[in-house]
Amino acid sequence: MVIIEHLVKRFGSFNALSGINLTVAKGEKIVLCGPSGSGKSTLIRCINHIEKHDAGRIVVDGIELTDRIRDINNVRSEVGMVFQSFNLFPHLSVIENCMLAPMKVRGLAQAEANDRAMVLLRKVRIHDQAKKYPAQLSGGQQQRVAIARALCMQPKIMLFDEPTSALDPEMVKEVLETMVELAQDGMTMVCVTHEMGFAREVADRVIFMDRGSIVEEGDPRTFFRAPNTERAKAFLNQII
Ligand code: ATP
Ligand code: MG
Repeated sequence: MVIIEHLVKRFGSFNALSGINLTVAKGEKIVLCGPSGSGKSTLIRCINHIEKHDAGRIVVDGIELTDRIRDINNVRSEVGMVFQSFNLFPHLSVIENCMLAPMKVRGLAQAEANDRAMVLLRKVRIHDQAKKYPAQLSGGQQQRVAIARALCMQPKIMLFDEPTSALDPEMVKEVLETMVELAQDGMTMVCVTHEMGFAREVADRVIFMDRGSIVEEGDPRTFFRAPNTERAKAFLNQII
């Protein structure tokens, strides 16, 4: 689904990513973790081509991301993204947030977009709020709308960048439950998160990054119990 080879991303002379190799298989769930500034968001953003990489290759669903890429909108519409800050359109209602891209990008008729949005809002258990505006919802509700909105594009892969870290503790659970259900449905997922319970429950692999490199990877049980590297040990000591 995603092939990343020798990926380099620089900001000026600073290497934010220095030689990342990563393959994500269809249906695989990957949790990315690591200290602040290690390049997790940059990596996620490169997969979506929000950031353009400087060297190496990224292939998403058979399409290589290059500067010349003409079908970037096709690639983006296959890749759903959920951010820490929910990024809903404030002037649109919940249902309108969910209908916009399917109508504009996928060309769905209004009735069809509406039906699809209601199905997915029901899935994240927020269909009763469909007419409200984002500011009228709690953080956890907004984040579930953001997930439903991404799913309305029927993406082949979902990228999450710390989706629960801006939420009050009591709302973290409802968003994680939605993500667990998505994982159980077979979605391919790459999640930046430090939620170890989530990682243990759904991740096929945990990838630990530090200073722009993948330092260690393994199955969640082994990684959290007995990391190999000193850097991962130091990181886990901090977050536990
Ligand atoms: P956090 O856990 O704090 O979210 P992160 O692992 O997601 O950290 P990134 O946001 O990917 O880290 O940043 C990696 C490095 O690249 C950091 O040192 C950051 O300062 C730098 N960086 C990221 N975006 C830019 C930018 N637009 N311009 C310059 N430097 C940037
Ligand atoms: Mg980040």
